[in-house]
Amino acid sequence: MKAARIEGDEVRILDVPVPEPGDGEALVKISATGVCHSDLHLARGDWMGIRGTGVIGHEAIGVVEALGPGADRHVAVGDRVILGLGGAGGGYWCGACKWCLAGHPRHCSQATAIMGTFAEYFTVGAQSLVTLPDEIDDLEAPLACGGLTAYGAVKKLTEHRVLPGSPVAVIGAAGGLGHYAVQIATAFGYDVIGVDVGEERLDFVKSLGAVRAVNPDEAVQVMQREYGGAAASLVFAARIAGFRLGFDVLGQRGLFVAVGLPPTSDGNLELAPFEMFSKDPTIIFSAVGTVQDMREVVALVAAGKVKSHVSRTGGLSEIGAIFDELEASQYLGRAVITDLGA
Ligand SMILES: [Zn+2]
Ligand SMILES: [Zn+2]
Repeated sequence: MKAARIEGDEVRILDVPVPEPGDGEALVKISATGVCHSDLHLARGDWMGIRGTGVIGHEAIGVVEALGPGADRHVAVGDRVILGLGGAGGGYWCGACKWCLAGHPRHCSQATAIMGTFAEYFTVGAQSLVTLPDEIDDLEAPLACGGLTAYGAVKKLTEHRVLPGSPVAVIGAAGGLGHYAVQIATAFGYDVIGVDVGEERLDFVKSLGAVRAVNPDEAVQVMQREYGGAAASLVFAARIAGFRLGFDVLGQRGLFVAVGLPPTSDGNLELAPFEMFSKDPTIIFSAVGTVQDMREVVALVAAGKVKSHVSRTGGLSEIGAIFDELEASQYLGRAVITDLGA
């Protein structure tokens, strides 16, 4: 089968053997796979110098082709499925430790990352698969990380008692994750103020349901003057400047939800203790979600409340060009590889 592998500084398309499903695993034939910013960061070695090795990619829809021993508890051959739990969330988790039982399988010491969907076939723990209704298109593949991660972040608003009707700032609102967050937070009843750069991206953000869309240089003034500060900010930006902005737009006792993961070379978010004293914020990180979250996302999409915006499709061999375009912020929403054999 064809697979895109990172080798040194390069992403190469190679012929490799089709993997065999092990205990509890399913072999999935990939129909479509989204290109996430995390794949780009791993290919470039942006995070603490960690570079991905082998096959990357972690957002996919496909069809179950074979099952390892015990996997039939979760799916059947022929099922059309989406990968749940997101890239860093894992293709396997134990289900019995204190983190798993508390609903945080990402922190399970036995969790394994889902990585390797830039290939024609992929094996994964069958418990992390969610079956799809027919009306959900293959182009919804970016839900598997982008949609799920945005949903997990919006759900944090309810956990921290940010009430519907409150003003919520989405930083990086037109991007792969932000465009989902605008739709999901709107569906939850929040007043979304989307922040992104340039007229085309702001028009797109408004079309997704945001009550307002503003450029970064006007965001603080608009949020503080017209809304008394954001009740929460969801920060999807992959730059540290977006983190700073997410803090500056917050109102008193606001909730700061970090989701993006800028390159280490961007430096740190610095907060003066006096800012913390005066704002009294709650600062949390939200990464991916659970398989149950994925089922809820699928229901929202099936109900027509959320839709993936795909601005670029291509074959597997175009992955290098897609990485360059993603790095240059050329996309509204996501890019999706729709032909893994090409
Ligand atoms: Zn566990
Ligand atoms: Zn991802």
